[in-house]
Amino acid sequence: MVEIIENTFRILAKVSNSKNAMLLNINNFETSVISFIGQNPEIFNEFKNALIPLHKKLGIDVQAVQSLPEYKSIERILSIKSCFVKNVYSILEQNEAFYIVLFCEEGINHLQPDDESFMVILNILGNQIKKYYGAKLKQDIMLPISDSNFAEDSIIKNWEDNFRKLLSISDDLIFILDMDGCFLKVNNSSVILLDYNEREIIGKHFLEFVPPDKNSDVAAAFAKMLQSDKEVKFRTELVTKLGRQIPFDISGKAVIKDGAVIGMIGICKDVTKLSKTEQEIKKLRPKLIEANRLINLERARTWQQSSLIEELERLKSEFVSNISHEFRTPLASIIGFSETIVSDPNLPEEMKSEFNDVILSEGKRLAKLINDVLEISVIEEGKITLDKSVIDVVSVLKDIVDKNYKNAENKKITLEFEYPEFEVLIDADKEKLSLAFDALINNAIKFTNEDGRVKVIVHNFFKDVEIIISDTGIGIPEKDLPYIFQKFYRVSRPGTEIPGTGIGLVFVKQIVDLHKGLIYIQSELGNGTSFVVKLLKSIKAK
Ligand code: ADP
Repeated sequence: MVEIIENTFRILAKVSNSKNAMLLNINNFETSVISFIGQNPEIFNEFKNALIPLHKKLGIDVQAVQSLPEYKSIERILSIKSCFVKNVYSILEQNEAFYIVLFCEEGINHLQPDDESFMVILNILGNQIKKYYGAKLKQDIMLPISDSNFAEDSIIKNWEDNFRKLLSISDDLIFILDMDGCFLKVNNSSVILLDYNEREIIGKHFLEFVPPDKNSDVAAAFAKMLQSDKEVKFRTELVTKLGRQIPFDISGKAVIKDGAVIGMIGICKDVTKLSKTEQEIKKLRPKLIEANRLINLERARTWQQSSLIEELERLKSEFVSNISHEFRTPLASIIGFSETIVSDPNLPEEMKSEFNDVILSEGKRLAKLINDVLEISVIEEGKITLDKSVIDVVSVLKDIVDKNYKNAENKKITLEFEYPEFEVLIDADKEKLSLAFDALINNAIKFTNEDGRVKVIVHNFFKDVEIIISDTGIGIPEKDLPYIFQKFYRVSRPGTEIPGTGIGLVFVKQIVDLHKGLIYIQSELGNGTSFVVKLLKSIKAK
């Protein structure tokens, strides 16, 4: 213990009439008694340890001390009436402080002297401690003990002390530069963040810590700072002693005295995490945009699908009403003609035979209709399988054309067949392909008016064969062409409804697809339609 400090401390105890007093040095872990006045130092042992948590939290003041249970017991043992506690010197970096604690048996007022001499001695004691304990430390502070009201040892009164504490505990890098841009002062975090010690930073120019490629930007920011008294914000990297580059958001302001700029102060926030997050967001942004686009596409598709489902529902119910009508017509004929035959036994034989012909043909029509309907479920379940063999497509078509001559003739339609001289072999399911061509030729006749013409043409190419079923019929409106192969789709022809179910072409397309062929239409409303089917030739044909 330095003698001069001990003496000053004793003078203070005397002036304040304190028979028991302590000069303590407290940090976050321990309390050491630098000097002690009194008979029984042991009774203060617990008390002084109880001061550590107070010191760590808010600082030690009279009120806090008096509320300690340890103080209460001292109060009892020594019959103390008042107490005075004062922080006389702090070393912020270590959160270390020197306190004077005076106990008096003479009543509370006695230890709240507004005595000038008490103040002066207290100040001297502070200076002495600073000189002997603080000189070797980097950052020190003398407490302002100039206030005459000792009881008001408030945070506000110690604003500078508190402010310095704040700087020392701040995670941000805080600096003061001279007007040339050289460091005058930095806080503890700057030292930690930049890996330099304080002496290595002080006096150096700010730009020495900035990567060369950022120098001109930072210089421009400081120039702006010096030109006005407004806050200037910018982001740059600072290079640590170990060569690490740390990104900082910097806010700085000129320090102006008597109208002249005397330096700059600033605060640098380490934004390593923030800039990483920003970069990740930047990387994620295109993905987000893409995801949004995909969601929109999905939404549009769902919308399309739901509108398609609605359309199918509509077509289905239209189909049901059509099919009932289709069933009813031949049934009405069959029942009507059979009833006539049964009810009139005297019916002439030729009439009976004519009626039987009608019953037979209507019965056949009904049977075809039922087959068509059954076909739908097979098509819908995708159950159609092919039983392939090598067949001559020309002879298959010849048979179908022959079968339809009568049908065409009835409508005064010319049915022509144009085919190559030699057979054209394909790998196909003869029966199913025949049904498909039959449906196309049937449609051509059905949708062609009297005196029209239907032509079936076979083009034999090198790798494939092209079959065209062309008519001079009523044609298909352009707007209906994209839907013509959809289930139950029928062209609406107001006033001239032609019976049908809207599944013939679905079946045709399915059969052509299964043969890995192609089918497309060319049609002109009022002038006719051509269905073009392309099928691969059998390798045996080449
Ligand atoms: P449908 O039983 O109604 O004939 P399809 O699937 O065979 O069913 O044909 C669907 C629709 O395509 C028909 O309602 C008809 O309007 C149109 N269509 C098919 N072939 C022809 C053609 N050769 N000429 C004109 N329209 C046709």
